[in-house]
Amino acid sequence: MCSIKKLSGVGDKRAKDFEKKGVYTISDLLYYFPRTHEDRTKFTEIADAVPGDETCIAGEVYSPVREVRIRRSFTIYSMVVFDETGAMNIVWYNNKYVKNAFKTGEKVLFFGKVSIKNGKKEILNPIYEKLEKQRFIGRIVPIYPLSGSLTQKTVQSLMEQAIEYAGNIKECLPREILERYKLPLVSDALKSIHFPTGYTDYERARRRFVFEELLMLQLALFGKRTQSDEKKREPFRITDCAFADKLPFTLTGSQMRVINEIHEDFKKPKAMNRLVQGDVGSGKTAVCAAGVFTAIQNGYQSAIMAPTEILANQHYETFSEFFKDYDIKIALLTKSTKNKKDLYEKIKSGEIDLIIGTNAIIQKDVEYCNLGMVVTDEQHRFGVTQRGMLSEKGENPHTLIMTATPIPRTLSLILYGDLDVSVIDELPPGRKPVSTYAVGEDMRRRVYGFLEKQVTAGSQAYVVCPLVEESDKSDLEDAENIHKTLSRIFPQFSVGLIHGRMKSEEKDKVMCDFVEKRIDILVSTTVIEVGVNVPNSNIMIIENAERFGLSTLHQLRGRVGRGQEKAYCIMFAHGDSEITKKRMDTLCSSNDGFYISEQDLKLRGPGDFFGTRQHGLPEMRVANLFADGKILEAAQKTAKEIAEKKLNLSEEEEQVLLGRVKNVLPDTIVLN
Ligand code: ADP
Ligand code: MG
Repeated sequence: MCSIKKLSGVGDKRAKDFEKKGVYTISDLLYYFPRTHEDRTKFTEIADAVPGDETCIAGEVYSPVREVRIRRSFTIYSMVVFDETGAMNIVWYNNKYVKNAFKTGEKVLFFGKVSIKNGKKEILNPIYEKLEKQRFIGRIVPIYPLSGSLTQKTVQSLMEQAIEYAGNIKECLPREILERYKLPLVSDALKSIHFPTGYTDYERARRRFVFEELLMLQLALFGKRTQSDEKKREPFRITDCAFADKLPFTLTGSQMRVINEIHEDFKKPKAMNRLVQGDVGSGKTAVCAAGVFTAIQNGYQSAIMAPTEILANQHYETFSEFFKDYDIKIALLTKSTKNKKDLYEKIKSGEIDLIIGTNAIIQKDVEYCNLGMVVTDEQHRFGVTQRGMLSEKGENPHTLIMTATPIPRTLSLILYGDLDVSVIDELPPGRKPVSTYAVGEDMRRRVYGFLEKQVTAGSQAYVVCPLVEESDKSDLEDAENIHKTLSRIFPQFSVGLIHGRMKSEEKDKVMCDFVEKRIDILVSTTVIEVGVNVPNSNIMIIENAERFGLSTLHQLRGRVGRGQEKAYCIMFAHGDSEITKKRMDTLCSSNDGFYISEQDLKLRGPGDFFGTRQHGLPEMRVANLFADGKILEAAQKTAKEIAEKKLNLSEEEEQVLLGRVKNVLPDTIVLN
């Protein structure tokens, strides 16, 4: 399809602005969907215009525009218009273009919000059009996301031109599918999604594009899956489970089931590609240890990648303990590892059997001897690429991915369409739910009183402050301030501080002090979110809880309640929005990660930045991954039929489809 420069009004500058949004051709532009529509169909006479309402007014210009300069950068333009029922003021701020835009006696249409100023009706900064040039008033109007110097009006006008080309867009959905799901043709749907005649018209079009988007995504994922099916390797021998018998606990039924699933994969002549989902504390480490153990017994190296140094250290200690009765050489490799060269040699020569570390283990210099199994822990912290880089360090190694971020089943196909999924849906026996409370600032004294009592009795506590962006200074200041305040209020306790910008040795030292009870209260940013285990800590206080995602809060809360004592999580939540209240209620009333993540999606909507980011779901153009569940199922079913060649596609239909799928980059799915 031809470049958008073919449209009148698009020069190099506008073309650049569109490029930023990925729009190069007219076809791209047609797929640049509005983020919403504005209903400008309602006209009111001036006497009936209700203050606070948005409406269209058809008025006659009474007098020329008056210009009043208030100060250097602030000028007010105003004029009076009237109809048969009365008169009103039309006002603009700093809009010099309106100064000479109107003639007395001219008929003009306005759209905007009516208000009352000095006893008179007015509309401030309305959209306007001359009656004889009516285009975007008196109809449903698309509102687009903008970039650069693009204005709504520009994009709207260009879209009006572009829509003339809608008939040239190739239909990418097979006829059989269009008929089965009663979806409109692409040319009609394009017109309706931009310039619908009404709500039903719009919904019909939207449904089609949601289906199209989800189908392409599913087909792309199937493609990825086929690729991974081609990764051949020799099956492993499955030895007895001697190792499991030596664990200090009995595995839960869920853990055993998942270990079995892993072993079944090992017996196949191709590489495993499996995701293990399990709530915090469900015992994923022991499950992956069983897999690693088998790989090592088969004479292969294994590697485990964790997102933080603290967690890598902890895994190193756990595995050293798990494997202490066996001749298995384990090494820890992180940024702060000394004598890296030596270690690299030992890894390359095969002297080391198990390498545990942070992303230091996928650096260029690290060469493995015969990597047969790789594990990525808490994978939502890593991108797809990093996950791939670990696998590429070996020849089609078995891949295990572990995550504590549960997502609803329909969605897991989207995220993990290329993986087999195992779920640990049971917690080890004896875990007590964490009593959770959401409180306001007025409760702070009481909360600190409670904290004092508990810590005096020997408990340890976390106080967590949000760190939305690593670079966000104010959040760090938050943590530092709270650390100061608590040190002052509780001189009898030792109050520690840990945050993401500390050097890893410093972090390790603080964590170590906390584990060994030299610190009573640990103030932290979310660096403690993943994995760390300190059984004696049973209180968690979370500041500004409204700024965290529900799943993150649930993960944080999973840090406490691992010991014998009853555990508490107290969240300070600010603002009294209905959504915040519902979100806090969800956490207070449930300890079930799956339920919480489902509620999280419902309450935020997956279009929400944090919602999608947190779950690692791809950004969608039109689909709402949660609300469009039914269409998602239909798309999944269709993708399967197409992949299994169960549909009667013409050659052309197949080619158009394949062409489209190629453009759905799998890397748009960022898993972090
Ligand atoms: P996560 O799934 O969050 O990674 P971990 O593997 O860190 O959980 O396990 C959490 C804690 O539970 C650890 O202290 C571990 O030793 C313990 N644990 C794991 N499995 C069992 C079990 N079957 N019975 C009792 N405790 C267990
Ligand atoms: Mg873990």
